[in-house]
Amino acid sequence: MARIGIYGGTFNPPHVGHLRAAQYAISALKLEKLLLIPSCIAPHKKLPNHTPTPWQRAQMVRIAAGEKMEVSSIELDRGGTSFTYETVEALRAQYPNDELVLFMGTDMFLSFATWREPGRILQNASLGVFYRGEKDELEQIAAQKAIMEKDGARVYLVENPVTVMSSTQLRRMLVFGCAEPFLPAGVGEYIKENNLYGAGRNYRNLPMDQLEQVVADLVKPSRIPHVLGCRDTAVKLAEHWGADVTDAARAGLLHDVTKALAGPLQLTLCREYGKMLDAFSEKNPKVLHALTGSVVADRIFGENRAVVDAICSHTTGKPGMNLLEKIIYIADYIEPNRDFPGVEDLRELAFTDLDRAVLLGLEMTLALLREQGKEISPVGLETLAWFQEKRKDEVKC
Ligand code: FE
Ligand code: FE
Repeated sequence: MARIGIYGGTFNPPHVGHLRAAQYAISALKLEKLLLIPSCIAPHKKLPNHTPTPWQRAQMVRIAAGEKMEVSSIELDRGGTSFTYETVEALRAQYPNDELVLFMGTDMFLSFATWREPGRILQNASLGVFYRGEKDELEQIAAQKAIMEKDGARVYLVENPVTVMSSTQLRRMLVFGCAEPFLPAGVGEYIKENNLYGAGRNYRNLPMDQLEQVVADLVKPSRIPHVLGCRDTAVKLAEHWGADVTDAARAGLLHDVTKALAGPLQLTLCREYGKMLDAFSEKNPKVLHALTGSVVADRIFGENRAVVDAICSHTTGKPGMNLLEKIIYIADYIEPNRDFPGVEDLRELAFTDLDRAVLLGLEMTLALLREQGKEISPVGLETLAWFQEKRKDEVKC
């Protein structure tokens, strides 16, 4: 009796994290082979706009597949919603004498009872659970494994250390032109040749409505209201203070365009774009979204220098900030979705004394960081000193 693995998913697109998990599964459970099964329509997930066809996803999996891996089109041939119990029953008929092991992540394992026909799956297959090795997680899955095994199921746990990559993150990295390190050999070429995921699209100088659409696809859905609020506030401030309204709108839209990327991916962007980092940024990669956002605005979106610079200084400010930079800094702080004590006063101040509003925003941020025991960026402190000095001079005059 051989042991055959089943690894299903949307693979939209397949990435090195999938491949690594597949290799761990094969060696940990000594699998004869691992079937990679792209789903047709996944029951749990709504796929994003511009997802390639199921057959294109399958083709990418074929290109990515390594040793002892075989791509099965069983769910694509069946069409419609891909229910796992149907797949497992069909494979049982195909491999009557072998042990089938169905692989999944911890979240899917913990919600296994809510799947369609879980009993029919367990009659035909063992389960293989990829876990990341965190203590709480391990306790939870060990408890669930014990309960299921009492009822006659067989569950294997396969350690698969944390990967920063997910298909969602990879699709963002494709737009930013930095996905190469995370794509299995050949998949990147296929994506480019077939213009998938907007990888070959020209994003330079997009009209405003298209820019808004692209940004909405790149940030987390929960961040969209903030981005639009920042854009609208920046426009009002630009009209009020006499700055370029188009630049204000574009910088507002793009200011958090890379914010959804995890810290290690921020570092990847910097590396790929040849940006040198100071010690503070290396240690606090999450603050890098202002820098990476500005680089992407420049290289991918072809924005002008004023827009690029305003995005770059939107979290810390910088000594010598110009009008647009101050506007984006404070618009980010006071846009209508922000809610904190004093926000109303700050909103008013932004339209009466812009410098004082930025200074107050900076002071509040630094006070909060101190309170939380977090490290403060040297640029933030330099900006604060610059504004304080500037105000002193103004009072003297
Ligand atoms: Fe930001
Ligand atoms: Fe923001």
